[in-house]
Amino acid sequence: MRLEGVEQFYGERIRILGPIDLEVREGEFLSLVGPSGCGKSTILRIVTGVLRPSAGTVRVGGRPLKGVNTRTAMVFQSFALFPWLTVIENVGVGLEARGLPPRERLKKADKYIALVGLSGYERAFPRELSRGMKQLVGLARALALEPELLCMDEPFSALDVLTARTIRDLVLDLWASPEVMTKSILLVTHSIEEAVAMSDRVVVLKANPGRIADEVDLRGLGRPRRPDLPQVRETVDRMYALLA
Ligand code: ADP
Ligand code: MG
Repeated sequence: MRLEGVEQFYGERIRILGPIDLEVREGEFLSLVGPSGCGKSTILRIVTGVLRPSAGTVRVGGRPLKGVNTRTAMVFQSFALFPWLTVIENVGVGLEARGLPPRERLKKADKYIALVGLSGYERAFPRELSRGMKQLVGLARALALEPELLCMDEPFSALDVLTARTIRDLVLDLWASPEVMTKSILLVTHSIEEAVAMSDRVVVLKANPGRIADEVDLRGLGRPRRPDLPQVRETVDRMYALLA
């Protein structure tokens, strides 16, 4: 998926974003980092097609995107679960919207609930779950759509440090697992450590208007990525310098 000359204006003249050229390659884990207000969430809304850019083109496999991008799914910082629905109903909600019959819906929902480790909680309501478990539901719901590109908007920001680390590792495991179709990930984070721990490539944004400031290729760091490795630490330091 590719953004070409994408711009977003607020009102007539206030440019909040762009022009941006950005490609998410097949099989790649790409992160966007940058200061608050630089347009990270706006970029995700444009990629998922819920927001049409004021100017420029979004291409999906070469073709201009019209309307919602059904090859993507989103995980939100705030989980965005329906409180009146059970776990399995929440996970099935996107499948229902896409017209899948009840039996197949349940089967898919079951599969992804198991993959995120929530088997046994199918009939629980969000209020009965910890924050981490709520985010696992959000992750299962997105993965159940079997998107080519999984978009995540600061998905670990509302979690405590240990829970965030556990779910980060789970996301990386699922990304590598043959059970999960989704092989491209676009992560928005304000944590440089997180971006360096997870990504193949990091795009650094600056604000007013949101623009690409730099891009760092991390594939040379290998995987699994131990945070205490000297190369990993050096990369984190270099990225802090870029953002400063
Ligand atoms: P980020 O996710 O990087 O914090 P956002 O994409 O949420 O940034 O916002 C980018 C900029 O656009 C911010 O300056 C924000 O104030 C502005 N913005 C976002 N949505 C609206 C809106 N509906 N109306 C006006 N300004 C908006
Ligand atoms: Mg945001």
